Amino acid sequence: MSSYDCVIIGAGPAGYTAAIRAAQLGKRAIIIERGGLGGACLNRGCIPTKAYVASACLLKHFRRAQEFGIDLDATPRINFSAVQERKRSITATLRKGIDQLLASYGIEVVHGIATFTAPHELKVGDRIFTAPRIIVATGSEWIEIAHLKPDGNYIVNSDHAMAWNELPRSVLIVGGGYIGCEFASFMNLMGVEVTIVEATEGLLPNVDRQLSRMLQREFVRNGMRIVTGTSVEETKVQDGQVITTLASGETHTTHRVLIAVGRKPASSKLNLEAIGVALGRLGEIFVDERFETNVKGVYAIGDVNGQIMLAHAASEQGISCIDTMFGGTAQYDGRFVPSCIFSDPEIGYVGQSAQQLEREGIAYRTGAFPFAALGKAFVDGQTQGQVVVYTDTNDKLLGVHVIGDNATGIVAEATVALKQGMTARELAAVIHAHPTVSEGLAEAARDVDGWAIHKRGKTRH
Ligand code: NAD
Repeated sequence: MSSYDCVIIGAGPAGYTAAIRAAQLGKRAIIIERGGLGGACLNRGCIPTKAYVASACLLKHFRRAQEFGIDLDATPRINFSAVQERKRSITATLRKGIDQLLASYGIEVVHGIATFTAPHELKVGDRIFTAPRIIVATGSEWIEIAHLKPDGNYIVNSDHAMAWNELPRSVLIVGGGYIGCEFASFMNLMGVEVTIVEATEGLLPNVDRQLSRMLQREFVRNGMRIVTGTSVEETKVQDGQVITTLASGETHTTHRVLIAVGRKPASSKLNLEAIGVALGRLGEIFVDERFETNVKGVYAIGDVNGQIMLAHAASEQGISCIDTMFGGTAQYDGRFVPSCIFSDPEIGYVGQSAQQLEREGIAYRTGAFPFAALGKAFVDGQTQGQVVVYTDTNDKLLGVHVIGDNATGIVAEATVALKQGMTARELAAVIHAHPTVSEGLAEAARDVDGWAIHKRGKTRH
């Protein structure tokens, strides 16, 4: 039997960050992990998909080489096995990086599957670990729909798709959320015929409607088929293709079907009910503001507590959980977690959307600024985009939503502004370098009061 200050189950962004933070505070922490270091984020999610996105975007730029005054000797095309090899090498390097980082802090990683035998005791194979504090950081898993079970070959989830050695000629994606839109974008750019079926009235139902509508228009302009307001009734594999029947009666025949209808907390195999930990309907582990469950000394951070399924939120929760557990204060503020979607065009947002403000009955004012009026967007040939700002009636920023090139970068600044409780006027007074697309943020902030400099004035005589 081994004893520690803290045992952490899971080496994803939440778990490994928590372990490092504990070691920084001089505590003895250990991680138990059944898969690869870095969790879903590094091994099957954020990083590998962004490696594909990077290749797809470069291809897009090469296709426009002539417009930028560059003659290419051959037509650029994707060599998918080389793209995949690059992805493998990136993830392997980053995994090694985490391994070395943990070793530098003297943090032991035990490979195996942990289950609770008591509130402060875990079993891993034939080893028993005890600790006064145990943190569950086991991430999330696929939501399964009975009539939409992946077979791993024709009908797949994104884990299967990330292992593809070649791209299909056509794909139907079920679900137009984060995963659906990111896969749709890079596959479309790589030459795959893409159809998206989304159950709600439009893509990305949780994203501000101005952005999601613009994304949908761009997707259609880029040749994708988008079917909304209906769901999939049946899939049938026939002659090497999948025939998908929708509730509307339509059928679509594609080479593959990718299911991206959401994820749920991965809490079911830990024996949590037996030790009395309270779980929600989807298996989310209920926690308080210190990430402690109803069982003293048992904590849950990251996707598994169901608060928000984003890697950067998970790692911040890891830091705050450890800090408060050992007597410090929490820095995590769940109100201002930026969201970034690496679609084409890119989306970045923080704070409340128009839909949320209306649902909550909050009176708001808005300003907007198009990329098409930004010098840098012209220079880069990326004029599709928009910055949208919402404030309360006292000018305090409530939300910033950006679609367009480098939207995910612009939102970093917006996150600071919201976290600091800034007004639109204060944000407009921050000097933004020229020429950069971040000027659009200042202009959208000015536009709340109708004084964006590069928006046409109404001639007064
Ligand atoms: P999601 O919740 O973002 O989207 C699922 C979509 O599927 C929703 O739009 C929903 O309306 C739709 N849907 C559900 N059932 C359907 C059905 N039967 N037919 C048609 N449409 C249906 O989930 P996801 O895209 O699977 O992503 C999972 C999680 O991973 C998300 O919580 C997200 O936070 C995270 N993620 C983040 C990033 C990022 O930060 N860039 C990227 C990928 C995934």
